[in-house]
Amino acid sequence: MPVLPPAVDKLATLLSRLPGVGTRTATRYAFFVLSEPDDYARSLGQALDDVLEHVRFCRHCHALSERQLCDVCADPTRDTTTVCVVETVQDLIAIEKTGSYRGLYHVLHGVLAPLKGVGPDQLRLANLEERLVALGAGEVIVATSTDVEGEATALYLAKRLAPLKVPLSRIATGIPMGGELEYLDQSTLSRALSGRQALTA
Ligand code: ZN
Repeated sequence: MPVLPPAVDKLATLLSRLPGVGTRTATRYAFFVLSEPDDYARSLGQALDDVLEHVRFCRHCHALSERQLCDVCADPTRDTTTVCVVETVQDLIAIEKTGSYRGLYHVLHGVLAPLKGVGPDQLRLANLEERLVALGAGEVIVATSTDVEGEATALYLAKRLAPLKVPLSRIATGIPMGGELEYLDQSTLSRALSGRQALTA
């Protein structure tokens, strides 16, 4: 079998690092890019450049944004007294799609996973307390996944935030144990949010 030209091989190798994409699929993608008109590959390259150049993390909540503050933090109509802590930007988007939440967010970009070397310092937690105090937050909704790591993270947050005396709640109802928020349908997620329960350390 002929060896791929180095440039194609490099593209396939990079694509194979995408989640859920194995070597064979990556090679198929590389050939697809080659088979499309040149515009496609150029646009793809440009899109990657643009993401690198323009997208950053919101200074307050760490969601993605092209400005210092994300659309949610910059929206004056949001309820600034409620902060929902989520694992990922995808979870934030899933909750936004329900249309039933009007508060702010705090994106951790992960969960505590000691076996994988992820401790509190690896999460975007440094400014959380400061934010909650500055906002005068009246409630923190902990919307991490209901798997072991998500639960451990929720408990950690309950302990860490206890001195602030801000009521914490935990989404629960309707979310299957081990469930990842991103994959839930909107009505389940909506119910889970409205049925949240108080969380104590
Ligand atoms: Zn933000």
